[in-house]
Amino acid sequence: SPNMAKSKFEYVRSFETDDTCLRNCYIVVRLDGRNFHKFSEQHGFTKPNDNRALGLMTRSAQSVMEELEDIIIAYGQSDEFSFVFKRTSNWFKRRASKLMTHVASQFSSSYVFYWKEYFEEQPLLYPPSFDGRVVLYPTNRNLRDYLSWRQADCHINNLYNTVFWTLVQKGGLTTAQAEDRLKGTLAADKNEILFSEFDINYNNESALHRKGTILLWKKHEETVIRRMKQPNAEEKEVPVTRSKRRVENLYCDIIGEQFWEEHPDILEE
Ligand code: ATP
Ligand code: ATP
Ligand code: MG
Ligand code: MG
Ligand code: MG
Ligand code: MG
Repeated sequence: SPNMAKSKFEYVRSFETDDTCLRNCYIVVRLDGRNFHKFSEQHGFTKPNDNRALGLMTRSAQSVMEELEDIIIAYGQSDEFSFVFKRTSNWFKRRASKLMTHVASQFSSSYVFYWKEYFEEQPLLYPPSFDGRVVLYPTNRNLRDYLSWRQADCHINNLYNTVFWTLVQKGGLTTAQAEDRLKGTLAADKNEILFSEFDINYNNESALHRKGTILLWKKHEETVIRRMKQPNAEEKEVPVTRSKRRVENLYCDIIGEQFWEEHPDILEE
């Protein structure tokens, strides 16, 4: 019978490995675009920062937060996004492969789905993809240091890219010359090149580019008018207020204390 046959084969399930994430830890899933250096050139991204591409990344991350369970904060820059699941999450029994693949596929399909809203007449030339990894952080300090690490990476890359492309676009250097010019320079040297040669104060550059994007849940009240029918009474229109939440975008420092003091409910105990 088909049932006999199925039970004969079913032992293969025992070859599946257990990838349950350790309890109590924050689960971080980080995605990164595959070969986006090439993807950005082929799709005419403006350098150093294409705001359409950043907007599309953030829209896709918002869709991940809305469609999946238990994500408390997300942080994105360039072609990467990190998603933090609350430490008590039991979604998919904390199976790493389930969480990671749901994040990666929800994000990738949203990137394609919303492409036209951001790139308009620029066609999407081939299906982009994103790799994923899972990392567990047992303490609030470890999680904060993880997010600080990604924001520090954003800062270093953006400072470099800002000077590099200013030297090329405004200074008339070739990309090879700009690379040579920046070899061995420190952050202070890069700030100085921008300021003395191009009258640019790096701190006045856009916060989106300098800090990356933080996505959080923000609570708000929503009032709708409901038609209610009480027993033995006329139908009435009654205002009903509900507590709702929506995803909020921030472009601020998350390394210092201030952000965490202003958002004490993100981290649990
Ligand atoms: P890998 O597959 O190993 O991740 P990669 O080519 O994607 O390779 P990354 O280190 O992830 O390399 O770098 C992503 C690259 O994508 C950046 O260096 C930059 O050239 C480009 N890029 C990503 N987002 C933007 C953007 N918003 N504007 C301009 N360029 C971008
Ligand atoms: P989960 O998220 O747990 O996987 P699911 O609803 O996707 O839930 P599955 O066990 O994966 O559940 O079953 C997929 C279901 O999708 C099938 O039961 C069937 O109803 C539907 N389905 C998938 N492919 C087809 C198809 N080609 N034609 C009709 N129905 C389909
Ligand atoms: Mg890489
Ligand atoms: Mg990449
Ligand atoms: Mg990257
Ligand atoms: Mg299914």
